[in-house]
Amino acid sequence: MIKIHFKHLANREKWSFSQFWKHEPLINWNMLKKSILLLILAAFMTLIGIIWDSLVLLNPITWQWVNLPLVRSKLWTNVIMLMVFLSLIVPCYRYKDHAWAHTIIPILSVQLFTALLCHTSYLIGSFSPATMVVYVSVVAVGLVLFNRKMIYCALIPATIALLFCSILSMFGVLQYAPLFNPEILSQAEMHPFWVGSMLFFLLPILIACLFLFEIILTQWRSRELAIQHLSRLDPLTDVLNRRSIGAYLEKLHQQPNSLYSIVLLDLDHFKNINDHFGHSMGDQVLIQVAQCLTKHLRDQDMIGRFGGEEFILLLPHTTTTQAQNIAERCRLAIAHLRFMTEDEQTFSVSASFGISSSLNANEPHLIISQADQALYAVKAAGRNQVQIFEDFTSS
Ligand code: GH3
Ligand code: MG
Ligand code: MG
Repeated sequence: MIKIHFKHLANREKWSFSQFWKHEPLINWNMLKKSILLLILAAFMTLIGIIWDSLVLLNPITWQWVNLPLVRSKLWTNVIMLMVFLSLIVPCYRYKDHAWAHTIIPILSVQLFTALLCHTSYLIGSFSPATMVVYVSVVAVGLVLFNRKMIYCALIPATIALLFCSILSMFGVLQYAPLFNPEILSQAEMHPFWVGSMLFFLLPILIACLFLFEIILTQWRSRELAIQHLSRLDPLTDVLNRRSIGAYLEKLHQQPNSLYSIVLLDLDHFKNINDHFGHSMGDQVLIQVAQCLTKHLRDQDMIGRFGGEEFILLLPHTTTTQAQNIAERCRLAIAHLRFMTEDEQTFSVSASFGISSSLNANEPHLIISQADQALYAVKAAGRNQVQIFEDFTSS
């Protein structure tokens, strides 16, 4: 006996880490969650900057290759920015239920992050490999995750500022890459300190952005597959919907010399179930009947929901006599189902079946129409039976 329970779904938004990472595609996160991710990435980049500044300041041998007062001021800027990025994570949690936070904090985070990138890029050289890699990776991830307008509003002024500084450097008004001693930039071969510094800045960000991209693409591909799968199914009963069963039928019909049977089945007096036990109970009956049919069909057979309480069975390589046996098996299985409501009332259902095959007509819609005529004959003859189209026309 099938006792039917109704699930009460909690709709509250959860903020646990596992849900944060596993269950919700990154691209669907709300703006505040994305801002937290951006702030963590920004804090990570700032930390890389702090490590580089500290390594330089602690190694007197490197002082000859850098502009020492600028390294010191960069260290303080980075420390302050690290504090700002980390402290911005707090209002993301605290004000997560306030609409203004979902607008203001993401804009603030993107603008601050871009300003920091712009400042660091100017110091290490607007056209240095590290600037290029960070620019491309961060812009790509930013455009995927955030509103395009928001990214462009930060990106365009930053790009103009960097280009302006580069033009001033060209005319000797500003020093190009002022963080480094001009001597190491003007050498014919690349200076090891400069190469090491570039790798230090670009590799962690490149790896972090590639990692993020990999997650986004993997989640996107699996979501595409899930959507494709869902678009083929009836949402209530999980069997094929009418559109996809139509497509399968068309494909089956186009195979040369294809023999197949179609069974249409309709639940008897189903309206009474809705009227007596409620629409939700009716829905549960449809779900159980669909599961019962699936269990009693062969692997190659297909089942679809044809209409409200009507199902269609597509039986490849099957004559109407074989289809009759299968339909009879399904009819008995449905009649043996027992349902129990929450207040312990029990009831059962029955179904009527009409059958036709590709031997009777050369168009799929005609075969369906013949199965439908057979089904209506069963309804007229008292229901809960199986009828083959040619038997009914010959009698
Ligand atoms: P018959 O034996 O002649 O087929 O009688 P019937 O009551 O089954 O047929 P009728 O066409 O009079 O009523 C079909 C009912 O099926 C009416 C409609 O509300 C119900 N129905 C259709 N789709 C759904 C659904 O998705 N869920 C539920 N619960 N009921 C549905
Ligand atoms: Mg019915
Ligand atoms: Mg009907």
